[in-house]
Parts: sequence; structure tokens; C-alpha cells
Amino acid sequence: GDMLLMEIANRLRVHTRSTPTGEPWCAARLGGDEFVLLMERVKSLDEARDLAAELLEKLSAPYHLAGNEIRTSASIGIVLGDDKYKCADEVIRDADAAMYRAKADGKARAVTFDRQMHLAVQARHKLETDLHRAIERDELTLEYQPIISLETGSVEGFEALLRWDHSDMGRIMPMDFIHIAEETGQILPIGNWVMHRACEQLVSWRQTLPDSQLSMNINLSRNQLIHPNLTREVSEAIHNSGVDPKWLNLEITESAIMRDMDTALGVLKELASLGVKIVMDDFGVGHSSLYCLKELPLNMLKIDRTFVSNMESNIVYPAIIQAVAALTHNMGIGLVAEGVETADQVAQLQALECNFAQGYLFARPMPPDRCIQFIKRSADGTSMIGLKRPA
Ligand code: C2E
Ligand code: CA
Ligand code: CA
Repeated sequence: GDMLLMEIANRLRVHTRSTPTGEPWCAARLGGDEFVLLMERVKSLDEARDLAAELLEKLSAPYHLAGNEIRTSASIGIVLGDDKYKCADEVIRDADAAMYRAKADGKARAVTFDRQMHLAVQARHKLETDLHRAIERDELTLEYQPIISLETGSVEGFEALLRWDHSDMGRIMPMDFIHIAEETGQILPIGNWVMHRACEQLVSWRQTLPDSQLSMNINLSRNQLIHPNLTREVSEAIHNSGVDPKWLNLEITESAIMRDMDTALGVLKELASLGVKIVMDDFGVGHSSLYCLKELPLNMLKIDRTFVSNMESNIVYPAIIQAVAALTHNMGIGLVAEGVETADQVAQLQALECNFAQGYLFARPMPPDRCIQFIKRSADGTSMIGLKRPA
């Protein structure tokens, strides 16, 4: 790694010496694998873009290090300095934003910082600061989406889904802030809040509906999974709410588990020993090995929405679901299909012997009081569920 960095630095030095005017640019390593190049007195942005294109080419040529041929690529962010900038840090921050865009767009390219990116940086900064206060300002809420048994048509339980009701931006969906919470570490207090809130909600529903056997699914992020306090916090939430842990299903994505398989295995075993159930979420898109599946203390797989939503258009998808169903049956665990939107999908899933389903067809995520109505309606047969047993 060090040799590669030195060679990259060398190419930068050699190459930036041969500037059109013959003047050397200032090149420096910022840290890690990040370098910065300061071009002074450029006449236009095109000059910077041309140099970036040349650099991309030069840096992607093979490296010969200790007898090995190595290939790599660079992502370049370009920013044009002007008197809007008060200090170098601001320029570097924006160059950084452009570089991350270059990475996100598929790497090995140069991206110029523009006004839109500027707005995005500002918006993100605002979300980050506001998120810090979201819990204390009581802006977070949970909605719940029912999970339906495909065998009986009854409501098995609910998945708790986080919403952020921002004081002036309105409702913000998890897709737009969970990743920020994860990057800033805020997901730990937020995740903990979710855990407590969802447990209390379940206890309250079970008091209102003593005959129900409702369970609660709670999403955990990878940061929570690898945090040493997780088990303690889960057990605190159980203790404080008085919920019976066997009604709790903790959902962790396949990719989060697989990224730290060794840690995950230990933590999931600890969690399982508390009596909670473990669901592998978004199954099918995160590269599990069958060996790992066998090792993990799983109670359920939740097959990713993409498989369900493509069921009717491509016969490969029902075939995959069938294979996953066979796998879960052999492992003795349950299978949930998420993102179910049509009656046709329900019929197919029933034929494939999938156990549970969740999706807009049954209900969108909703506030707690509507959930009670939903359960009552589905119990007295007046709901829209109308499941038919397969012929
Ligand atoms: P997920 O865990 O896969 O949750 C399912 C998402 O699919 C939810 O989006 C749900 O509203 C949506 N959905 C349900 N049925 C349908 C359907 O029939 N069609 C379509 N198109 N979508 C459907 P939502 O609520 O926006 O949540 C998005 C993601 O945010 C979740 O994906 C989960 O990864 C994350 N998330 C939500 N709440 C939490 C939380 O409390 N903690 C953590 N760590 N992540 C959360
Ligand atoms: Ca989930
Ligand atoms: Ca999912």
C-alpha cells in the first residue's frame, strides 16, 4: 500500500511538472489515499478539466511494485476558487464533495463542483445539525406496517418504521436521513429510541388486544450491530417496557451481517440468548454464503422487495423465491415477502409456500391508532386482505 501511494505521488509530481506553462503545480497528500493539487492562475475551468483527464489516464496505467502488476484508478473533484471562499478549508470541503460525487458516479472520473452540489452540501449540513436535536425536540415517530400470515390471513405483527417530522421541512423518510445518522453516529441514540418506543407500543397493543399474538419487528443498522453495547441496550428496552422478548423480531440486513460475519455471529448469538428472534432483512441482494446461513441463529428470512416486484415480469424471480422458500423450510425458519402490491403476487407467494407477506396491498406503514383499527377489521373479516388459499 505504501509503495503504491509513493508511486502515485511520484506520477503526480512528474506529471504536474509538465504543465502547459512549465510551472509546477503544488501537489500534496492530504491523508489516506487523498491528494490535493493546487493549480494557480488557470485561465478557465477547461484547463483544470484537461489536466484531470490526463491525470486519470496517467494514474490508471499499471503499477509495477515488488514484481507485481497493480491497477488502480482515481476519482477527481474539481473546484474553481473565487472570492466566495474565505479560507482553504472551504475550498477543500467543496473539492471533497465533488470527489465523492465522482466516486458515487462510478469512480475513475473527474467531477466539477457546481451550485447544485453546493446546495446539497448545505442541505446535508443542515440535516446533520438538526438530526442532533431531533430526539429531544420529539420530532421522531414510528409508523407500523402489518405483516400478514399467508396461511391464515391474520395479522402476525408489525414492522416499526422510522419517520422524522422536521419542524420546517415536513416529513423526512428514512432513506433520506438514516445514512446520515449512520455516518455521524447518531444512529446509536436514535436506534435505541426506536427500540424503546417500539417495545412500549407492542406492550400497549397487547394490553388493548389481550387475545392477539402480535409481534414487533425492529430494524437495526450495521452500526448498532457492531456496537459493543447493543445486547445491553436491547435487554434494557425489554426490561423497561416489560415486553416478552419472544415477540420481538430484530431485523438486520443481509449485507450488514455479511460485512462483519465474525462480529455478527457473536452478537446475534448473544441477542438470541435474550430470547428475541432474528430476521435477516433484504435477503437475496447481500451475498450470503449458504455456509454462513447455517451458522447464524436466524428465525426468519425476509426476501428483498426486488424479487417480489419482478415476480410477474420475469420467471427467474418466482424460481428464486421458490428456491429460497425451500431453503427456509429445510432450515426450519420462516420466510417473509416484502413489497407485496398485487393479489397476483399473493397467490404466487402462497403457491410457493412463503409464510408471511408485507406490502402496500395490505397496508402502508401507519400510525398506531390506525393499526388497532386494521387489526380489528382483519379479525372480523371486513378488511381488504381477502386471502384465498391456492387451488
Ligand atoms: P426496509 O427495512 O426494507 O423497510 C421496508 C420499506 O419498504 C419501508 O420503507 C416500507 O414503507 C417500504 N414498503 C413496504 N411495503 C411496500 C410496498 O408494497 N411497495 C413499496 N414500493 N415499498 C414498500 P421506509 O419506511 O421508507 O424505510 C426504508 C428503509 O429505512 C427501511 O427499509 C430500513 O432499511 C430503514 N429504516 C426504517 N426505519 C428504520 C429504523 O428504525 N432503524 C433503522 N436502522 N433503519 C430503518
Ligand atoms: Ca426491515
Ligand atoms: Ca427490507
